[in-house]
Amino acid sequence: MAVPKRKTSKSKCRMRKRSHESVVRAAKACPECGAPQQPHRVCAACGQYNGKQVLTVETD
Ligand SMILES: [Zn+2]
Repeated sequence: MAVPKRKTSKSKCRMRKRSHESVVRAAKACPECGAPQQPHRVCAACGQYNGKQVLTVETD
């Protein structure tokens, strides 16, 4: 059975695993409250989507 000649270095291992990460999620500011928000998702801070109140969010 073929065996690797050398241990994979931390650097090489991390370089490889870096490519397994999912696509970097672009965060944009919510037009209502300005909090960072994922595109095409309801804003977690104010509960609005596309200018409409979708979720009721508890505020302190
Ligand atoms: Zn918001």
